[in-house]
Amino acid sequence: MHQTHGTRIFDSTVQVLLENKINHATAEKILNILVNGLQIFGWAEEQGSLENFADYPPVVNAFRNNGVILQCLAEEENHGWICKHERGHDIDHEDHLGNKWKLIRDHEK
Ligand SMILES: [Zn+2]
Repeated sequence: MHQTHGTRIFDSTVQVLLENKINHATAEKILNILVNGLQIFGWAEEQGSLENFADYPPVVNAFRNNGVILQCLAEEENHGWICKHERGHDIDHEDHLGNKWKLIRDHEK
């Protein structure tokens, strides 16, 4: 399967779910099946679709259920470390090598 075909199928399906205001529980079940199926056929461009629909919980949940999270990607200013945790995490930032730095919460800014 050509990579962009997976993205097109996925994004089109999400549009239909949104346009028809499908309830979130049902949408998540449908997307679980779709994400799993696309991954089996080698889809590896999930981050783009995940970013596109980051505000739509059924997409975020379906990806998480299939091992793909929306990454925090916060950058540590002195070393350029990139956080590997899921966006919105409540523990300190950490990169893939285990380097940790303090999470500045909104009320501390
Ligand atoms: Zn982080």
